[in-house]
Amino acid sequence: MDFLPLFFRLEKRTALVSGATEQAVRKIDLLLRAGARVLWHNPIAARLAELDQGDRQVVSVELDEVEFSALTLVVIANDDGEVNQEVIQHARKHNLPVNVLNDSLASDFVFPSVIDRSPIIAAVSSSGELPVFTRLLRSRLESMIPHAMGRLALIAKDYRQVVKEKLPQLNVRRRFWESHLEGSFAELVYSGKENEAKRLIEESLESASQGSISNDGEVYLVGAGPGDPDLLSFKALRLMRQAEVVLYDRLVSPEIMKLVKQDAELINVGKERDKHTLPQDSINQLLVDLAKQGKRVLRLKGGDPFIFGRGGEEIELLAENNIAFQVVPGITAAAGCAAYSGIPLTHRDCSQSVRFITGHLKNNTSNLPWHEFVHEHQTLVFYMGLSGLEQITTSLMAHGMRNDMPAALVSKGTTREQKVVTGTLENISDLAKESGVRAPTIIIVGEVVRLRERLKWRS
Ligand code: SAH
Repeated sequence: MDFLPLFFRLEKRTALVSGATEQAVRKIDLLLRAGARVLWHNPIAARLAELDQGDRQVVSVELDEVEFSALTLVVIANDDGEVNQEVIQHARKHNLPVNVLNDSLASDFVFPSVIDRSPIIAAVSSSGELPVFTRLLRSRLESMIPHAMGRLALIAKDYRQVVKEKLPQLNVRRRFWESHLEGSFAELVYSGKENEAKRLIEESLESASQGSISNDGEVYLVGAGPGDPDLLSFKALRLMRQAEVVLYDRLVSPEIMKLVKQDAELINVGKERDKHTLPQDSINQLLVDLAKQGKRVLRLKGGDPFIFGRGGEEIELLAENNIAFQVVPGITAAAGCAAYSGIPLTHRDCSQSVRFITGHLKNNTSNLPWHEFVHEHQTLVFYMGLSGLEQITTSLMAHGMRNDMPAALVSKGTTREQKVVTGTLENISDLAKESGVRAPTIIIVGEVVRLRERLKWRS
């Protein structure tokens, strides 16, 4: 270990930053965030009226005015090596810890990359050698540490003493905290329901001190996006790693399923068109039953749960049964397919609105307001429309849409098997048959389809 990681209290202490570089400015900002008073030696523009730091404590100084014995640390970030040397010498004379920009050998300390969820702080370092590693690791940690974890820590701190009194045994106390900091208490804080979180922790503390454990389950209705696992949200991933039971269906890709907690129970509820493995009512009821058993249940849906996802139906029964639930949006197929096929859904030149339409026509096209679809300057996106494609294109043309209106099919969008077929209203049905595109596929109709020629960035 070339450096010992430490967390340094800088409040009301003074740091000297020497340099006019971007890095110097960033370090000033960091030091200020840690409560330090900063002296800025800027050899390029000696007096820095332009440095507007509000009432934050940055004082611009010349090197010869600096009282080195009053400093706590020194950061040196000049482009000019000679100036750096001069400052280093001053600092060394006073035994001050020094950080020199891009020179870990000359540095007594290096700045880690910081994930700040104060009071929780994670810091990552490659000992100043390989910043790219630090960046990679940092972005992984960013996705793992919820933004509101700081709030969680502050609230937990308020309960620390009372928990200690009510649960004097260390292992009981530890288990209590572990289950709450990963469970519903934490989730309530993360979703901004702090009063409910406090009520929950108080109630379960009461039951735990009487030897019984509260048995409240919860359901997470999570949108898994259109297929590419990189399109999951941080929150989706966190809940996927927590849930003990997962109800999923055909639209959730195997790569995404790999990300759920390893020992979670997996229940495939099917949802293949016209042959649901489990009828919708049974899915709704199953969610209720599992939550009542005290389980944390993940209902993972393709795309977004509230866009042709029956998410509303699934949580209705939960609400009736007073079961806690959360809904996490996902990237809907239209957004994912549009981005990955280079077809913007709106464009100032040719489309001012976009409609998401069900193409699941059940042999009955009359219940859709076709006349509203035929306007120029709008984009239509049909979900579940592949098997009714011919009916859709014919109905649009019958209601007056021009037959050379551009149309595209995006099949298995955002996955490695994505396939895009473009044509016009008139020929897209035949092209679909020739190319053999398979479900899931969305249909995009509108002038925006033409933009793909220029904006396509993957096949
Ligand atoms: N809730 C989902 C939609 C479910 S309806 C969402 O927000 O995306 C199922 C339909 O979504 C499919 O018939 C297909 O039209 C579309 N779909 C879902 N995933 C898709 C994908 N990866 N590529 C293309 N279309 C997709």
